[in-house]
Amino acid sequence: MKKLQNKVAVITGANSGIGLATAKLYLKEGAKVVLAGRRQEALDEVASSLEGEYITVKADVSIAKDNKRLIEEATNAFGKIDILFLNAGIAPLSPTHEITEEHYTTVFDTNVKGPILATKEALPHINDGGTIVFTNSIVSQKGFDGLGVYSATKGALRAYQRVLTSEVKSRKIRVNSIAPGPIETPIYDKMNLAQDVIEEMGKGFAAQVPLARFGTAEEVAKSALFLASDDASYINGVELEVDGGLSQI
Ligand code: NAP
Repeated sequence: MKKLQNKVAVITGANSGIGLATAKLYLKEGAKVVLAGRRQEALDEVASSLEGEYITVKADVSIAKDNKRLIEEATNAFGKIDILFLNAGIAPLSPTHEITEEHYTTVFDTNVKGPILATKEALPHINDGGTIVFTNSIVSQKGFDGLGVYSATKGALRAYQRVLTSEVKSRKIRVNSIAPGPIETPIYDKMNLAQDVIEEMGKGFAAQVPLARFGTAEEVAKSALFLASDDASYINGVELEVDGGLSQI
């Protein structure tokens, strides 16, 4: 029996990295999947590699009306939602003395406003007993230079999730999150850093991980499957670190 047979899942940031690996796994497990991303060409490109029942929706999570439209298009296509995976995020570097208002606004709008507004729009359309999964990060537990605003967004998201867990309890909707450690995805190429700087940073991260390596998007996707499935039926309100142990030492 497939773990998500006939479930409807909406995934943001689904054209790349963790979101794409999760979309593929959800489809394999029988879900109908709405893949959302901010670039249509990227969605079209990955769509050719997908098998199963899915649609793609172009939606920028930092824009309120895009979140509303995403949920409308999802429900028009597949009816009520069972799994909402709020995964889209950006992690641009900026040491505190260089932070600009634009940096702050862009990162907060994408990483905090987006998932909160998407949740608001989706809630009336999520089945009772459904589940919401967020992608946080271990950066809210440990300090990495230059990631101040990014870390603050993930900490804010974690605080929000505690409230949401309580607010949806009467509907038996479970709210959980994943906190990845360093995971090999295109996010590092989007930080506007030179390749050698990225490689050095990567080596530095990997050296701190007890398992001494980066994780893969597929390893995170397995956790996103676990939390969304009945296997996690009594797990609610948690942040699950998928980080090779980095946050624990
Ligand atoms: P990724 O491959 O860059 O995926 C991020 C996804 O979010 C992409 O599809 C990206 O679209 C999308 N996105 C960014 N801004 C958006 C916006 N305004 N509207 C809609 N979609 C938007 O990186 P990833 O590593 O898989 O990241 C997924 C999540 O994991 C993020 O929340 C990130 O903070 C978190 N995370 C990652 C790591 C890691 O080491 N990789 C560690 C901890 C947490 P584009 O392709 O257009 O950029």
